[in-house]
Amino acid sequence: MRRILIATSNPGKLRDFAGAALRHKVEIAGIPGFSSLPLAVEDGLTFEANARKKAEAYSRYVPAEMVVADDSGLEVDALNGAPGVHSARYAADQPDKADANTDDQANNARVLQELKGVPQERRTGRFVCVLAAARDGKTLATFRGTAEGIILDSPRGTNGFGYDPLFYFPQIKKTFAELTAEEKSNYSHRGAAFRQFLNWCKDFTGN
Ligand code: IMP
Repeated sequence: MRRILIATSNPGKLRDFAGAALRHKVEIAGIPGFSSLPLAVEDGLTFEANARKKAEAYSRYVPAEMVVADDSGLEVDALNGAPGVHSARYAADQPDKADANTDDQANNARVLQELKGVPQERRTGRFVCVLAAARDGKTLATFRGTAEGIILDSPRGTNGFGYDPLFYFPQIKKTFAELTAEEKSNYSHRGAAFRQFLNWCKDFTGN
């Protein structure tokens, strides 16, 4: 079974990747000793820039291995695309300058606060995930997946992480926090990007 190293300490992302990998018969693993490696600086202006930075930085610690990094977030149309690349630290006073993540509940509360009074038809948005695959400090390819939805005015569901409880997915009339691991892998931005990566891998590695 092929093994792919994922450069993340986010247990929600790891769960999503493990769910997506199961049906494709690939094994997902974290980078050994990830928590003691110096953090890659995520100061890029786009998901792609940050995904590349992470993949390149962390792949240097595991020579000759294929490393995949994920940069992802929620874009809300009524907030001009915010929280966007600052999704993980949106509750900070200055999300663009914060160097530590803020907690999911606080981030959700800020989005709800900023959307107060915005009617449902204008609460459209999307999750975006960009994956970068790198080896020995060089990006080999990037993949982008999106999922379109509506931002609710209160949370629903207990699965998932991050903004999942606020993100209603009309196609199956559930929030992302009401999905099973298999459903999330079928419909999510991360699942879509991961499928593109696996297809590319087949051509790249020949299996
Ligand atoms: P990153 O680690 O900088 O890529 O931060 C991603 C942030 O975007 C997470 O901390 C979540 O707040 C949000 N996010 C990304 N993907 C998802 C998802 O699948 N569900 C819910 N929130 C997500």
